[in-house]
Amino acid sequence: MKQAEQLVLPLAPPPDLTEVFRRVFFRLRIKSPVVSIDAQFHPFAGLRSTISVRNGAVKARVSDLLAEASPLVLEALAEILLARVFHRRPSREAKECYLAYTFRPTMRTRIDATRRARGSKRLLPPRGHHYNLEEIFHELNRRFFLGQIPPSRLGWSHQYSRRILGHYDSGHGTIIISRKLDSPSVPRYLVEYVVYHEMLHIRIPVERRGQRRVVHSREFREAEKKFPQYELACRQLKRLCA
Ligand SMILES: [Zn+2]
Repeated sequence: MKQAEQLVLPLAPPPDLTEVFRRVFFRLRIKSPVVSIDAQFHPFAGLRSTISVRNGAVKARVSDLLAEASPLVLEALAEILLARVFHRRPSREAKECYLAYTFRPTMRTRIDATRRARGSKRLLPPRGHHYNLEEIFHELNRRFFLGQIPPSRLGWSHQYSRRILGHYDSGHGTIIISRKLDSPSVPRYLVEYVVYHEMLHIRIPVERRGQRRVVHSREFREAEKKFPQYELACRQLKRLCA
């Protein structure tokens, strides 16, 4: 029997994150007076990391999804975060290294799974006071996507957001539309357009260009223009968000 093929390594203890941040802090030769550095892993809902400096105390919280990342990746993230609060520009290498790690398919799968498990996406049912998102989704699916967009969870947002009119959450496979659009003063094609936009996010995956994740790629923008009232909708939305 060839059992040795699956090599099981003993679990390494998670790296001392504070030590990583301290190392990078000195390497960057940051002049600002700092009295303490504290960096810990934190069970955020997704791949999120935060940093703050208050009275010379640096406090960083790094997504525990990165607990198994190599010291190199953690140093890269430390550089990005420290650069952010100390008004520096992180090196290309750091950005590239961190992005390459978080872009691995296995990582994306874990991020999505964690979001699903930890994040609670509360939303109102798809049948609103004026518009039924489910009906709109199915109609658009037929008209523009040959019915090929998989059925997704749909709902109106709890918040009455004026800025974010729609959102597709890939972790939850959920399309959320701002409750602001569920109104008789909002024409139907506008709601359709926002739903159409979010459906395109399901159809067209995020592209990676150099160090950036391109959510609205050229392909995406072209597809958007296929919506019949595209220009009118854009103008209306700008007015609505103003
Ligand atoms: Zn979008």
